[in-house]
Amino acid sequence: MANVVLKNVWKKFGQVVAVKDFNLEIQDGEFVVLVGPSGCGKTTTLRMVAGLEDITQGEIYIGERLVNDVPPKDRDIAMVFQNYALYPHMNVFDNMAFGLKMRKVPKPEIKRRVEEVAKLLGIEHLLHRKPKELSGGQRQRVALGRAIVREPKVFLMDEPLSNLDAKLRVQMRAELTRLQQRLGVTTIYVTHDQVEAMTMGHRIVVMKDGVIQQIDTPMGLYERPANMFVAGFIGSPPMNFLPVVVEQDQGTLKVKGDGFSFPLPQGIEKKLKAPGKELILGLRPEDITVDQALREKKPEWVFTVKAEVVEPLGAEGLLYFSVGQQSVTARLPGASLPRVGDTVPLVFNLDRAHFFEKESGKAVA
Ligand code: ATP
Repeated sequence: MANVVLKNVWKKFGQVVAVKDFNLEIQDGEFVVLVGPSGCGKTTTLRMVAGLEDITQGEIYIGERLVNDVPPKDRDIAMVFQNYALYPHMNVFDNMAFGLKMRKVPKPEIKRRVEEVAKLLGIEHLLHRKPKELSGGQRQRVALGRAIVREPKVFLMDEPLSNLDAKLRVQMRAELTRLQQRLGVTTIYVTHDQVEAMTMGHRIVVMKDGVIQQIDTPMGLYERPANMFVAGFIGSPPMNFLPVVVEQDQGTLKVKGDGFSFPLPQGIEKKLKAPGKELILGLRPEDITVDQALREKKPEWVFTVKAEVVEPLGAEGLLYFSVGQQSVTARLPGASLPRVGDTVPLVFNLDRAHFFEKESGKAVA
């Protein structure tokens, strides 16, 4: 096992800067997820750690060893790809054993390790089948098994669940998390799916245009997004953003926007600095509620809306409405969902509001 350190790492493909000054220290045994939209540089970063891509500038260490010039096979890592990359002509046993054979591990030990890992993954009955005789989920387990038998210091996984159907993906997500906990192997996992990132990672690295936007725990990102990009990317449905101006109104500090005005919670003045400032108010759909107690406690935060679209999802549902020209989403308990056209008094829970600078999108700290 090992820690992994990336120091001022850059990757350029000609004119394209794929990764800009990437800095990250991953602890031994940690599960770190790189997440971001397509083209943000996640795969390139992972491939540089794997040694499949040269580093334009910077340093990468695996277990205290500088690996910039170490070929992939000597880095003591194992990769799991989106397409599994199984050998079609080999059965499951041989697919899993391949890396060990190449390393000239003695046959009895190969057999022991493959059987042990196959058992761990619940595929011991499939060892004689060819990949084409397996389901997608089984193939995924074989690809994982092949990585695990090598007992690497680091697992590198690139969207390993994205070829599975939605239900299997959720199941494999939990399985992978349990497996990583059990094996305790340092893992770097790439995905564009924020739910996968939130549910699996000890820490998450949010990337955009080759630049790290924020590194934090899942709840850290959710509670304290550093900017509007992270705020909008983490959480589903995404955070609502409303342009506002902060104003003093008869001794009370208020946020005023298109069609609304709310007094702000006590103690927020210092955070928002000078009144008169144009800001973006961020409020998550789950912080716009029908909560009776809050409605009574904070009548000044109640805002009556007209239900435009209602999406019941079972235990909860989504309500879409307009505030001025802006479309806003609230997440409500299923039993509290109105019908389309109904007017509904909602509470905007400003105790949970986020504020961002209008120009830069940075969180107002
Ligand atoms: P995705 O989720 O779509 O896989 P990603 O976040 O993994 O995206 P990368 O594949 O790392 O993104 O790509 C980052 C940037 O580098 C993109 O602009 C991409 O077009 C560019 N890029 C990647 N590989 C190459 C290459 N071999 N040659 C030139 N440009 C490349």
